[in-house]
Amino acid sequence: MLSYFLLAFLTPLLALASDDGGITGPTTSSDAAGYSCDASNCKLPSCNCASTSPPGGLKPSDVPMFIVFTADDAVQSYALDSVNQFLAQRKNPNGCAPKMTYFTSLMYTNYTLVTDWFIAGNEIADHTMTHVGDPSVDEINGNAVALNALAGISQSSLQGFRAPFLEYSVNTLKRLYAAKFTYDSSATSSIPVTDPGTDAFWPYTLDYGMANDCLEVEGSCKGQPVLPGFWEIPMYAFFDNLGDTFTAHYNGLNRQLIGLYTHPFLSTCRRPTQAFVNASSKVTIGMINQFLDWAQATAQQNGVVDDIVSNEQLLAWVKNPVPVSQLDANGLLSHCTFPDFSFSTWYGCPEVEPTLSNQNPAQQVPDDEQPRRFRCEYSISRPIGPAGANFTGPAYVPFSAGVSQFPSGLSHLILHASLAVGLLFGIVKFSKHF
Ligand SMILES: [Zn+2]
Repeated sequence: MLSYFLLAFLTPLLALASDDGGITGPTTSSDAAGYSCDASNCKLPSCNCASTSPPGGLKPSDVPMFIVFTADDAVQSYALDSVNQFLAQRKNPNGCAPKMTYFTSLMYTNYTLVTDWFIAGNEIADHTMTHVGDPSVDEINGNAVALNALAGISQSSLQGFRAPFLEYSVNTLKRLYAAKFTYDSSATSSIPVTDPGTDAFWPYTLDYGMANDCLEVEGSCKGQPVLPGFWEIPMYAFFDNLGDTFTAHYNGLNRQLIGLYTHPFLSTCRRPTQAFVNASSKVTIGMINQFLDWAQATAQQNGVVDDIVSNEQLLAWVKNPVPVSQLDANGLLSHCTFPDFSFSTWYGCPEVEPTLSNQNPAQQVPDDEQPRRFRCEYSISRPIGPAGANFTGPAYVPFSAGVSQFPSGLSHLILHASLAVGLLFGIVKFSKHF
């Protein structure tokens, strides 16, 4: 069980709340929400009612304990170092390195690092060009254009948005919908899961309007705005004054996910003139890693699948909620043994031993494509480059159709990024509920 000592440690983390989207109390009530959804007409994968119950009617015991990990703002080397120090040394139960979502804004961003981070399998999402609340169409779409033109992120890969300072309006949501974004993640779940009126809803579509932030966002809720198929992924709060928040989610009736929402800039240890910030950062870094150590160990001890995921990965599971009981207990990594040697791969073992005369034999496809949600994503299968072009050429050529050449300079960069260890961080933005 998470010690009270550690919970006390969460306090300074919450104190960072007001820097980017401070929440001072419940942002929704059931009256204000006035939410009503016809579950018989709202079916996955394209529609999901706002609900505290897991998607697809799954029992909570069949649901992984998700920890969503995101970061906001400019991407620079210190920022990726910051994220890496929490994730690079970890593995999810399926053996994959955890992936996360980076909500990127234009100013001060190093786009070469955005490319690297995306290639490493992480999600890149939109956080406006100049970091403004209630952003205009140009702020939203301009940042998407920049991510494509400067970092090679294809428009189809750019699915998500978070409003700076969490300041969004009904018009923001409508603009995202018009621009064909898949989801927004600016809303807040600010009522604890221990409260009967909790707004810790699983991600839901806006076919029947919003159900979060109803006291905060004018014209929202009570059935508005109607944006069919467009998802909201609320941000789930820690509540230090209520005791063991994670355990309440973990052992709670509905195993709602929990989030770690970071701001690397706020607590970097690489600002040499800010000793106080650096010292504070070290405390935060230790605290977060201690929490993740505990969460992963506790889940493992109890036989629970505990996954650190990006919003993209989470949404893929919500759309197609595979019960934990149907997942391969050994994960999705294939161990391939041949007469002369063995190796491991995420992509299915070759059916026969590769040889000089048979360099790329047909591969065994995993039993069920559904668990693909947890397969590690690698760049070679992801379109990237201006207009969706791939680094290896104007069009993606599957490996099974011929030998592809991975640029040596690029692989060096990825390796470098993967091994980088730094000391910096910024985190969670919620202040206290009471
Ligand atoms: Zn921001």
